[in-house]
Amino acid sequence: MATVYFDAGHTRNTFDRGGGKGVRRNGRSYEEHDSNIDIAEHAEKILKSHGFDVHITSQSYASSESLTSRTNEANRANADLLVSIHANAGASSANGACIFHWPTSEDFANIWANQWEDADTGVGLHGNGKHAVRVGTWTNLHMVREAAMPAYLIEHGFMTNDHDFDYIFGSKKDSYRKQCAEVIAKSVCEYFGVDYKGGSTYTPNHQEKSHTVSNNVDWVGTDDKGKELIITGSYVNYYDTQRWSNPTGAKKRGYKWEIDNLYKVNGSLQYRVQDENNDLYFTTGRSDLVKVGGEYTKDESSGGSNPAPKSGEGIVDYMNRIGMDSSYSNRSDLAAQYGINGYQGTASQNMQLLDYISGSGSGSGKSISQMANEIIRGEHGSGHANRRQSLGISKSQYEKVRKEVNKRL
Ligand SMILES: [Zn+2]
Repeated sequence: MATVYFDAGHTRNTFDRGGGKGVRRNGRSYEEHDSNIDIAEHAEKILKSHGFDVHITSQSYASSESLTSRTNEANRANADLLVSIHANAGASSANGACIFHWPTSEDFANIWANQWEDADTGVGLHGNGKHAVRVGTWTNLHMVREAAMPAYLIEHGFMTNDHDFDYIFGSKKDSYRKQCAEVIAKSVCEYFGVDYKGGSTYTPNHQEKSHTVSNNVDWVGTDDKGKELIITGSYVNYYDTQRWSNPTGAKKRGYKWEIDNLYKVNGSLQYRVQDENNDLYFTTGRSDLVKVGGEYTKDESSGGSNPAPKSGEGIVDYMNRIGMDSSYSNRSDLAAQYGINGYQGTASQNMQLLDYISGSGSGSGKSISQMANEIIRGEHGSGHANRRQSLGISKSQYEKVRKEVNKRL
């Protein structure tokens, strides 16, 4: 049976941080990749059930984008067909789906455009739906040009159009993405002369989130890029997008990030910083909480994990010892951040919180590598929240497992 490669355009969580594509709407940002990967994974599922050898490029799951390794991967595998899955952006009036193809290989594009019209998804075709890539214009798309096999790139409507947005990210997204995947699967079957036997159950298996973004971000800029940002308060929160609510996590006094840039978010200074894993975050620029130090050097030991609790040490004593605010209201905030629901300060909740804060709460007794293997084998289901719960580990530990998984895929 034929080998089919799908490529989900861009990478996850890269829109706000730069590099990825998406759209901002009503104070939230929506990542194109969330839609692309959803369609790719469902199309993969349907075609596997038809006996195809289907793959999604590993770059579709990478943390930064390299188009060359995407086409190289499909070329190395001697794939018979490569389909890159995207959504478009442009003028707010532009709408509809379309497929890009190399001028000399149009077969799959014709099939797809016909199948799209038959499917009646609610999103029309952009023009006649087919565009040959043209050298010397933006349509000279790498994914189509550099692939050794027939390669196509589908834009599933315009994220920047009110009507299409509702299908790609809005109220109609589940049925729309399912249909997008079915159109691709039907087209692949027709292209290779295989009878289409119907779709599989669609489960949005990608943990999607639209981020709240501040509609009031001003770039300030800084001469301190590359220097240390040192925490001088007892701890500070950090965020994965430019906001002040719902922190991604907190770091304690003495922890150092590398300064990348400086903004004002809702009127308050906010640094963009890089951690020891080269992950970008945002954190406060308040002079009573952080200060600028010397040149940043990567120090694995400054990983921000807290010391282990002493035997028999309670949460309040522990927090006081490491310089954290141990008040009930702060513990309650932290509990909410770590996903401990309905915190009332019970003994078991306090033990759980102590595990999370100290990073000692393995719960599973397994190594990072063992847990990564189990996730890859599918033993902990899909979605980060599910997997973390299934493993019974803290967010910071789960992050380590996730990094290990990403490294291997
Ligand atoms: Zn795209």
